[in-house]
Amino acid sequence: MIPASFEYLRPGSLNEAIAMLSEHGDEAKILSGGQSLIPMMKFRLSRPACLIDINRIPNLDYIKEEDGYLKIGGLTRETALEHSDLIRSRFPILHDTSFVIADVQVRNLATVGGNLAHGDPANDHPATMLALDAEIVATGPQGERIIPIKDFFVAIFTTALRPEEILTEIRIPMNGSRRGGAYLKVERKVGDYATAGVAVQVTLNDRGDVQRAGIGLTNVGPTPIKATGAEGALAGKQLTDEGIAEAARRASEEAQPSSDLRGPAEYKTALVQELTRRALYRAWERAKK
Ligand SMILES: Cc1cc2nc3c(=O)[nH]c(=O)nc-3n(C[C@H](O)[C@H](O)[C@H](O)COP(=O)(O)OP(=O)(O)OC[C@H]3O[C@@H](n4cnc5c(N)ncnc54)[C@H](O)[C@@H]3O)c2cc1C
Repeated sequence: MIPASFEYLRPGSLNEAIAMLSEHGDEAKILSGGQSLIPMMKFRLSRPACLIDINRIPNLDYIKEEDGYLKIGGLTRETALEHSDLIRSRFPILHDTSFVIADVQVRNLATVGGNLAHGDPANDHPATMLALDAEIVATGPQGERIIPIKDFFVAIFTTALRPEEILTEIRIPMNGSRRGGAYLKVERKVGDYATAGVAVQVTLNDRGDVQRAGIGLTNVGPTPIKATGAEGALAGKQLTDEGIAEAARRASEEAQPSSDLRGPAEYKTALVQELTRRALYRAWERAKK
């Protein structure tokens, strides 16, 4: 299908883009990779009067370590995460996540910022960012605003971003040296959205106890879910087979799946339990290394 007609604007700077957003309000949409927005426009599920293409804005595409954070620019492509040595060595969970998104063609264009800003509970990065306790940097007419990821996903396809704001950076705290994470997803076929997915990140202290556990769930509710009960079951304890089984059981209780073409709700609940169990073992292995 062909999208409804729209005005196309291409700012050369962040300030120019924010001025355009302020002028057009919620009639406008940011265009990043276009891999979610353009299909929605083609199906006429979205009919923005104006597209503001931010692809020519400089300095929004980077992955760097700074001030105790891993910082990812809003326009960073999935393939950049996939091929980054910093990501592979320090945050394999992000490599796991990018690698299972769609296919190479989509990943060459799709951005991490767009994946989060879209607010789709089926997208893979939201659960991972929930597990990592990331912060979102939203830039608008008043400057930068930091949104903790737990407050970012408000409802289905709705985030805490204001209409005149651009997601410019994702910040991930780099505390603790014995850290490990993993993202696991079951999909009907390669490149599909998740039937269910689980992201786990653990930090161990010197004694090997869990100093911090983060668990995020994909596509088992109207928003991505932070499984706080499962996280709480692990905190301050040694990782054991029993502890892992208990955390996995709690995560499955926190899932709110509905039955659809990808399977019945009971199946998805069971998937969350098993994926949490497996992701915890993988995260533990990585943390020990
Ligand atoms: C065939 C196919 C399969 C896919 N499979 C998966 C999958 O398995 N897992 C998965 O996670 N994703 C999947 N996707 C989605 C893909 O990852 C999208 O690209 C991503 O969700 C959106 O990123 P984008 O850069 O393309 O954003 P766009 O499509 O350009 O934008 C999406 C939305 O976010 C807004 N937006 C974008 N960037 C910003 C910003 N910086 N600030 C504020 N608002 C912004 C836009 O206005 C729009 O509303 C798939 C897509 C396709 C086409």
